[in-house]
Amino acid sequence: MTPLHVNTPLLRAAPGLFNHAEVWLKMDALQPSGSFKLRGVGRLVQQAAVDGAKAIVCASGGNAGFAAAHAAVALGLPVAIVLPSTSSAAVAERLAERGAEVLRHGAVWDEAHEFAQRLATDRGAAYVHPFDHPLLWAGHSTLIDEVVGAGLQFDAIVTAVGGGGLFCGIVEGLRRHGLDDVPVIAVETHGAASLQASLAAGELATLPAITSIATSLGARRVAAEAFARACSHPTLAVQVSDVEATAACVRFADAHRVLVEPACGAALAAVDRQGAGFKRVLVEVCGGMGVSVELLRSWAAAATMAA
Ligand SMILES: *Cc1c(COP(=O)(O)O)cnc(C)c1O
Repeated sequence: MTPLHVNTPLLRAAPGLFNHAEVWLKMDALQPSGSFKLRGVGRLVQQAAVDGAKAIVCASGGNAGFAAAHAAVALGLPVAIVLPSTSSAAVAERLAERGAEVLRHGAVWDEAHEFAQRLATDRGAAYVHPFDHPLLWAGHSTLIDEVVGAGLQFDAIVTAVGGGGLFCGIVEGLRRHGLDDVPVIAVETHGAASLQASLAAGELATLPAITSIATSLGARRVAAEAFARACSHPTLAVQVSDVEATAACVRFADAHRVLVEPACGAALAAVDRQGAGFKRVLVEVCGGMGVSVELLRSWAAAATMAA
């Protein structure tokens, strides 16, 4: 099966962007769905098509929803995206433009998620979970295949963590290539740090609420497998503030002329703080649709006020 995602550029970071000497960027912001999510979601949707699914259902107004819409349309399958009532009209419109049927159910994601699972059963459709499925992790792991295939040797990888699907995929990819000792710097924002909460508690923990603006990192609890892999693979869990994350988005846009979400800015913001002890650092530039020139401007203004 030809994958639905593209092999994204691997770029040396622009001079002056980081203090650290050698940083490499895996530019998944350039995936056709706007984020790395297409890697895993594409794999999941392709398998669903092979298994005879009649349609695709996903509960996400975020990048998983955009990836599900992209993958389903590419394979000619109908796709329904279920949003909670709090999702913006703009997101609903953008999903509809991409060929998705948009439904509203519930006040919060958990309610939309439950409804979407029932809808999938009723319609003979495959349900796409945003972060908790082995095929998703396998799909995400291809980013490591590409980096290794390009011949880059690195001694640490920095990634954002939401529900931990991307993290699971990265660990899987590292293990496949015998890179079991390469540490993963797992970055969350204050107010969305569910992986760090679990590591601190020594068991899977659930945050009472999400209070970060990095909505793509806003899983109150990570996948059980993400916690398990963080316990068995060298993992450094770190947190940055929303202001640090958004300021990193602004610096990155200036240096590389690419817009990314605060979720991705979180990973970029952690590089200077955590990268110093390493010779060559790889950053997963996970991307995201939740950014615009206008948002970037407001983040730049907020960063100036905080400075
Ligand atoms: C989904 C997403 C994340 C977090 O990925 P998880 O697999 O939920 O940990 C980070 N950044 C962006 C842009 C995302 O879309």
